[in-house]
Amino acid sequence: MADNNMGWDEFEIGAMLRSFDGPISDVALKPQEERNYSPNNSFTASVADWRIEKPIFNKDYCIDCQFCWIYCPDVSIVSRDKKMLGVDYDHCKGCGICVEVCPTNPKSLLMFPEQEDEEAAIASWPEKEKKEK
Ligand code: SF4
Ligand code: SF4
Repeated sequence: MADNNMGWDEFEIGAMLRSFDGPISDVALKPQEERNYSPNNSFTASVADWRIEKPIFNKDYCIDCQFCWIYCPDVSIVSRDKKMLGVDYDHCKGCGICVEVCPTNPKSLLMFPEQEDEEAAIASWPEKEKKEK
């Protein structure tokens, strides 16, 4: 069992840290906040200050396709019962992949500077782009 106060460079090569305490068979079906994270897990650590840009979600255009949820490499899209709810800003690193894969016109997620106010961003949302014939 690892001492939770050990630094990353104090572990033996090949040491395994468990992400969850107890059984893991039902972990995928539970919302993040209900999972039994082990003290080694980084779930309680925020990486919000890594970002210089953040995705803002505009539900008015969202079709709940779940592409953003599938492609987010940090599991930072919050979705319940296949409904997109928003972004987990504690864990989102601002990579912009969710914006790239969002298929709506205009997109339902757009990148803004980290300090941008959400209401102001939504008020400035672009219009639907017309397709060229
Ligand atoms: S910007 Fe990147 S990390 Fe953040 S929610 Fe989108 S895909 Fe996930
Ligand atoms: S990819 Fe876009 S349309 Fe699809 S669920 Fe995410 S925000 Fe909604």
